[in-house]
Amino acid sequence: MKWKQQINEMKAYQPGKPMDEVKKEFGLEEVVKLASNENPYGFSPKVKSFLASDFSNHAIYPDGYAQDLRTAVANHLNVRESQLLFGNGSDDLIAILTRALLYSGVNTVMATPSFSQYRHNAEIEGAEVREVPLRDGKHDLAAMLEAIDENTSVVWVCNPNNPTGTIVGDEELQNFLKKVPAEVLVVLDEAYFEYVGSPVFKDTLSYVTEYPNVIILRTFSKAYGLASFRVGYGIAQEEVIAKLDPVRAPFNNTILSQKVAAVALADQAFIDECKEKNETGKKQYVQFCEKHELKYYPSETNFILFEVKADSDVVFKEMMKRGFIIRSGNALGVPGYIRVTIGTEEQNDKFLSLLEEVLTEQGVFA
Ligand code: PMP
Repeated sequence: MKWKQQINEMKAYQPGKPMDEVKKEFGLEEVVKLASNENPYGFSPKVKSFLASDFSNHAIYPDGYAQDLRTAVANHLNVRESQLLFGNGSDDLIAILTRALLYSGVNTVMATPSFSQYRHNAEIEGAEVREVPLRDGKHDLAAMLEAIDENTSVVWVCNPNNPTGTIVGDEELQNFLKKVPAEVLVVLDEAYFEYVGSPVFKDTLSYVTEYPNVIILRTFSKAYGLASFRVGYGIAQEEVIAKLDPVRAPFNNTILSQKVAAVALADQAFIDECKEKNETGKKQYVQFCEKHELKYYPSETNFILFEVKADSDVVFKEMMKRGFIIRSGNALGVPGYIRVTIGTEEQNDKFLSLLEEVLTEQGVFA
């Protein structure tokens, strides 16, 4: 068959190991997954009661325009409904953007390491990928600017960045946006927006008003705890959304996912509570790293990337045997590090005491 050449060498997305597989492999009764940055507190109790009482007709197609959810998000953000684009997770939005803007002959600029799907989708479309190494774990916006030329179509800024959890602050971003050519789309992927606490991360929605070439991506998969429902959204000026909308699959969110996302959005107290608990949990990891003199990146998210001074794959495997699934830095382009989703206080305590055991075994703590 006449496959695109680049597809031949491609691997499917490697998600965190499924829990059931790990239970079986290691004969474990309980496994905790701290690998995919989901919310350890699940979703709002309001969603739970909604789910128990909803009798939607799933035999019919959903509203392709997601009108009710659109109204709810537009009101929440104080933007116009026409400024929103909904996706089957923000993964879908990344694919839509790529499909609309990238092809053989143009290039796209992104940081490395960053979220793998920017590169993956760009490769499928045959575009040239220009990766700019992070500097001290942060996007090197000056170098990214230099990488832009007349053939650049899209620039990706993962803010906060996955896998480092770091942010680019307001001033840096503002300077960058001023210099990016107007015909280059800048994607600000804010999948972890709700967790950011830094005062230098200002309300980025104003960039959408100020710059016609900016789109922000957000998701219900992380702080809202709805990863399985697959709802993400983009916010941009109307003209950008109007161009992207025809590229979207007609019914890319289900009836239930649209309803559930709107219910979750209405419970901001739950989000605030999760953010607060996440901050406390993050401190457990920071204290561990400081006690053991392990380098870590300052995280503005619900995960943390830190040094283990050992082979990350070995640490990954040893922790898995003990019932914790995390991400090895080797798989993320940061060897010698692991990325751990911040869990509940109890999970973090258990994880860290087992990690201490593993790192002692590995001879890290003499
Ligand atoms: N962007 C970033 C930075 C992510 O970390 C993720 C999830 N791993 C996504 C986008 C995709 O999330 P979703 O499709 O669930 O919205």
